[in-house]
Amino acid sequence: MSDPNPIHPASPAPDGAALPHTTYSKTLIGQPALVTGANSGIGRATAIGLARAGADVVVNYVTDPQSAEDVAHEITTFGGRAIALPADVSKEDEVVAMFAKAVDHFGTLHIVVSNAGLQRDSPFTQMTLEQWNTVIGVNLTGQFLCTREAARIFKARGVVPGVSVAAGKIICMSSVHQQIPWAGHANYAASKGGVMLLMKSIAQELAPYHIRVNAVAPGAIRTPINQSAWSTPEAYADLMKLVPYKRIGEPDDIAQACAWLASDASDYVTGATLFVDGGMTLYPGFATGG
Ligand code: NAD
Repeated sequence: MSDPNPIHPASPAPDGAALPHTTYSKTLIGQPALVTGANSGIGRATAIGLARAGADVVVNYVTDPQSAEDVAHEITTFGGRAIALPADVSKEDEVVAMFAKAVDHFGTLHIVVSNAGLQRDSPFTQMTLEQWNTVIGVNLTGQFLCTREAARIFKARGVVPGVSVAAGKIICMSSVHQQIPWAGHANYAASKGGVMLLMKSIAQELAPYHIRVNAVAPGAIRTPINQSAWSTPEAYADLMKLVPYKRIGEPDDIAQACAWLASDASDYVTGATLFVDGGMTLYPGFATGG
């Protein structure tokens, strides 16, 4: 049965491009999910989307507890269950404690979306070790720590008949920059390239346990992380040169992909990266020549 709750983006695309009115089918009932960095942007939309699909949701945050509580509250307004839990995903003790609390609260976990991420941009010759370490620490080590805790829980529990045919689903938030080099963002591109092979390696290792591991690679999505790329008409027009589909992505475009990868509808999909990018990885510069 379909959830009759269309998601309306906060603001339409500046060029008037039509936006989808999406709904979520109740495919995730009985499957608690944990989403990192869930108090903003893509993580927020994904937490709400998974909840609309029937999952109980752990809303992880590291700063701004009120916004995490707001996400949890929004989930309760349509009958979902959610809890906000703090953890810096780059810190092992905090990640281990958060997963323990999540299991304590919801009994188990079936879905983990390892989404938290940040940028510390710099020309390469001026990039500090701190900028490098911060990005690798959150975007790559954070994914290692969270996916390892998820795999431990899924492997120890196994498949629960009647709930899902898989023993667990891990979704790593990557980026088109797992593939597209990005001058001025070497730390970020390196972290996402690392996420790709982390994801594929653990997908290979965990498949025999019926644990599926996939990545979503967003293109340009309207969130705070890249506000300078879409918040003025000039910046938006520049951005559209990179997007064949000619609209910016909305956080719910990514949430929908996560809901599908978390559901049994994608049961034969593991080790894959789903690009959700309006064609950004289609070499748009070659559309009129080359
Ligand atoms: P965002 O800034 O709105 O959200 C990032 C979230 O990660 C925030 O909630 C932030 O608090 C959290 N976070 C940062 N460091 C953390 C830490 N140490 N521990 C726990 N949480 C932490 O940005 P977003 O666009 O929603 O980004 C979400 C993910 O999507 C990131 O991994 C990002 O790299 C990826 N992504 C975004 C885009 C885009 O265009 N917005 C494109 C490709 C990939």
